[in-house]
Parts: sequence; structure tokens; C-alpha cells
Amino acid sequence: NKFEQLGLSESLQRAIIDLGFENPTEVQEKAIPLLLEQETDLVALAQTGTGKTAAFGFPLIQKIDANNRNTQALILSPTRELCLQITNEIKLYSKYEKGINVVAVYGGASISEQAREVKRGAQIIVATPGRMQDMINRGYVNISEINYCILDEADEMLNMGFYEDIVSILSTTPDEKSTWLFSATMPQEVARIAKKFMHEPQEITV
Ligand code: AMP
Repeated sequence: NKFEQLGLSESLQRAIIDLGFENPTEVQEKAIPLLLEQETDLVALAQTGTGKTAAFGFPLIQKIDANNRNTQALILSPTRELCLQITNEIKLYSKYEKGINVVAVYGGASISEQAREVKRGAQIIVATPGRMQDMINRGYVNISEINYCILDEADEMLNMGFYEDIVSILSTTPDEKSTWLFSATMPQEVARIAKKFMHEPQEITV
């Protein structure tokens, strides 16, 4: 099938069949082979509803080392709803992968419970910026060894006033990681984040 041609593993293809996805969307067709083949930074201009969660979720799942319990990826998203939605999608996509744990970290819910979940093992953390910063300040998370950082709906996050949090969070991550930025639009603040934290990103527009 078409997802196989993009280079996705058999276990991901099985999950994709269960989801009923028949063909990759445009952003998936452009992003998935690129992210699987190269350790690159990426700026993708894509709206909600284009299938962008799978565009970064599929390659990310394939790149996570399930034998390593450390946090390897951080996904930042603007709202609690989106954070939970991404977490659910990643869980569905990784249903046939053993030992990949995804934890949602967002405001308006118990921080100690989220800290416990992270402590049990969270190779992938999906977080809103404010709560993530709080978790970092309290020493509840360690993102000093992540390999992947995804900024989802970057324009929305910045509209909501998360610039300082994002800068502060990204400053505690290693330089060598890959950063994948998804945004519907490219206002100056988004360009500023890209310039500050990304190295020669590949660009995709859909
Ligand atoms: P997103 O843009 O990531 O919010 O995705 C929008 C919706 O499209 C979600 O409900 C996905 O589950 C669905 N979706 C993502 N990729 C595909 C695909 N290749 N075929 C059919 N539906 C998809």
C-alpha cells in the first residue's frame, strides 16, 4: 500500500489499516519520507485537518527507542484539548509497538498525577507550554536528552502568549535534536522561534 511506499514499518501499517486510512494526505506524503530518511529540522505550513498529526506522529513513533525509558520527544501544543487529542492519536498509531509510552501534560489537572505518570516512563510527552514550564521548574520532567521536539500549531501557541515559555523550554533541550515546526501561518514571532532554535530547516507547504 501507499503507506509502505513512504517507508513506514509493518506495525505502523497495521495500525493504519485499523484506523481506516487508505491513502496518505499531502502533508503526510511530503513529510513522512523526509523525516524518516533524514535527521533534519522541518518547517511545515499546514492547517488543522490536513493530517499533520500523523505526518509527524508516524515518523516519530518509528524513531523512538522503546528499550530506552528516557523522554526522547516533546510535542508542544497550544491547548489542553489539542494536547489530549494528539496523545490519543499517538496511542492509536503506536498500538502495535511494545514499550512506547505517551503522557499528556496540560494545565487545569493535577500536576502531581502528571508527574507520577511521567515518572512511570514517558518516551513521548505531549504538553501545553505553561504546564510544561511548571513541570520543568519543579524537576518533574527531564528533557535534557530529547532527540525530537515538535511545535504543533506554533502560530496558535504564540497567539496565546506562550513565546517566553517556549523559548525557556527549548533552551533546556539539547542542540543536536531535530525540531519539527507545524503552523498554519508564518507570522514574525514564529519565524523568530524558527531562526533562534532551528538549523537550516527543510520546508513543506500544503
Ligand atoms: P489532523 O490534521 O492531524 O488534525 O487530522 C485530521 C483528521 O484526519 C484526524 O481525524 C485524522 O485521524 C484523520 N486522518 C489523518 N490522516 C488521514 C489519512 N491518511 N486518511 C484518512 N484520514 C486521516
